[in-house]
Amino acid sequence: MRAAVLREAGRLVVEEVPRPEPEPGELLVRVRDCGICGSDLHAAHTLSPGTVMGHEFAGEVAALGPGVSGWRVGEPVVALPYMSCGGCVACRAGDGIRCAAVRSIGLGELPGAYAEYVRVQPASCLRIPERVGFRAAALVEPLAVALHGVRMAPVKAGTSCLVVGAGPIGLTTLLWCRDAGAAVVVSEPAEGRAALARRLGAAATVHPGREHAGSRLQALTGRDPEVVFECVGVRGTLNDALAQAGVRATVVVLGVCLGADEIVPGLAVLKELVVRFALGYAKSEFAATLAALEERRFDVDALITDVVGVDGAPLAFEALTRPTAQGKVLIEF
Ligand SMILES: [Zn+2]
Ligand SMILES: [Zn+2]
Repeated sequence: MRAAVLREAGRLVVEEVPRPEPEPGELLVRVRDCGICGSDLHAAHTLSPGTVMGHEFAGEVAALGPGVSGWRVGEPVVALPYMSCGGCVACRAGDGIRCAAVRSIGLGELPGAYAEYVRVQPASCLRIPERVGFRAAALVEPLAVALHGVRMAPVKAGTSCLVVGAGPIGLTTLLWCRDAGAAVVVSEPAEGRAALARRLGAAATVHPGREHAGSRLQALTGRDPEVVFECVGVRGTLNDALAQAGVRATVVVLGVCLGADEIVPGLAVLKELVVRFALGYAKSEFAATLAALEERRFDVDALITDVVGVDGAPLAFEALTRPTAQGKVLIEF
């Protein structure tokens, strides 16, 4: 089968690799669409050569491993991108991401879906409803990440929300906030992405270097930000989020900054902020996302700005490392 394989730091190469066989208790999925994720761009500098990335995928069941029942070849599915033990407390709660034995798919532990086929476990799979296409279904993973974050904050109709960053996670966070009826301002320096945020329902966008986002939200809603979503994850953005938040606001951190970062705790103390860190999702959040897509609650077509074949994947991957106006980029098989 064809796969876009990580060959050296930051560089993919399309290669012919052996088609995997499902092991006992596994399903083999023929990949139809797989999103390129910001975390892939980072991981491409730390994972070993030979890794196949890709954890945001949708496809069809291609084969059942020994001992698997309840699934049909050809059934359209999405899968949470990991395999876990299935028996521990976390797994039984649909929260396998917290399983001590969890192995990620597409981030170095198990091969991912930048390939024609990927192995998954049935417990992680959900059927794609008829009205949801493969492209939209490939967005379930990043939408579920955002849903998990939005559920950590009290977002309801009329809540004043500030989303910092209009990359794919900022944009999917915006979609859920709008779905809840919140008023959202997005802070984003790249005009192309800011325009996309306005198209997806932001009341306004601000350039963080030029305008105070909290003031803009105050002007629009009469309230300082009640919830701030940090969706960038580079040094300094968490402190900016604390600075923009209103009194007793909640700051939800979805950006993943892996280096040391400085904050001024007094900023949070003076305003009695609640700061919550969010990672991943539960299976129920995948299901809720599929239901929202089935009900056509989001303009996902606007979020998908590029679709490339596997041969175009290396260039598309490289292009995303530069400042971009792109939303979600999908590899389609
Ligand atoms: Zn992702
Ligand atoms: Zn487990």
